[in-house]
Amino acid sequence: MRAVVTCECCGHRQAVERSIEEPESFFVVCHACEGVLRVQVTADAIRTAEALAASHRDSRTTAWA
Ligand SMILES: [Zn+2]
Repeated sequence: MRAVVTCECCGHRQAVERSIEEPESFFVVCHACEGVLRVQVTADAIRTAEALAASHRDSRTTAWA
């Protein structure tokens, strides 16, 4: 999945460059204010993202049929 992080300092939203496959936490640096953000990825968040991706795949398959 791809995560989008909202900076707590300035509200800047940015996509995390790496893909995330399992629950973990890591740090990213805000591109706007250079504040350090702690990102916590939960199993729930991954399941939600995978469900969204799967529904997108399904709709594309339907379009091909
Ligand atoms: Zn920021």
